Amino acid sequence: MKIIVPGGDERYLGEAVRKFRSARLPLALTGAGISVASGIPDFRSPGGLWTRFAPNEYATLEVFLQKPEKAWQFYRALGSILQGKEPNEAHYALARLEQQGLLHGVITQNVDMLHQRAGSKVVLEIHGEHRHLQCLQCGELEEANEEHYRTRSPPVCRQCGYILKPNVVLYGEAVRKLDEIYFLLQHCDLLLVVGTSVQVHPAAALPSLVKQNNGLIYEFNLEGTTLTWGQTTARAGSDFFFRGDAAKALQLFADTAAAS
Ligand code: ZN
Repeated sequence: MKIIVPGGDERYLGEAVRKFRSARLPLALTGAGISVASGIPDFRSPGGLWTRFAPNEYATLEVFLQKPEKAWQFYRALGSILQGKEPNEAHYALARLEQQGLLHGVITQNVDMLHQRAGSKVVLEIHGEHRHLQCLQCGELEEANEEHYRTRSPPVCRQCGYILKPNVVLYGEAVRKLDEIYFLLQHCDLLLVVGTSVQVHPAAALPSLVKQNNGLIYEFNLEGTTLTWGQTTARAGSDFFFRGDAAKALQLFADTAAAS
């Protein structure tokens, strides 16, 4: 495992970029850490959303079905955190790499849609997205607006009158896009892991699939994780670890890759 510190020890940067440019199907996997610089705190961090709304009390399918008013207290808080947020340099760097044909696409655990806002085209959202409301009764998908989040009672479907929920995956619901993700990962030989310690299923299993292809893992995180040192159950460790601010590191990485 080789450590690269942007603005500090960059001696392995050239090697990392060279290998990246010759990868056949490079992908990125992103998590909460990439959006922190956009003003969206990690839900798990101290003071984060989960400390105010315990997931098993607010964010489950069961709570939505049985106590939608209570579930909507949480959805409103989530909505106000995500509203008006803009992509940061890390999102833009990944979008740029895709536009230059150097990155196939992004798998994300985030629901904030900042990858699309930054210009990424291939975005596989494991946990859904927050821009729409979903009707579990008839399948209607409505674009979310401020009114939906302002009203005291939960918004209802204009087609069938059933109570709507944000188009995000609640606990107790199936995660999404897995068939497509597993198919891509069969051919993926390089994975950029950004802003996630990949502890949560199903993201946790993805780096080891790439390792099975003799692929490479590039990690962009503030601090070392179990992935960095190969302490995951699958012993899939990072080959290159960009330590520090992901926005700064990805910008450096994308600039160097574009200039090579
Ligand atoms: Zn409906």
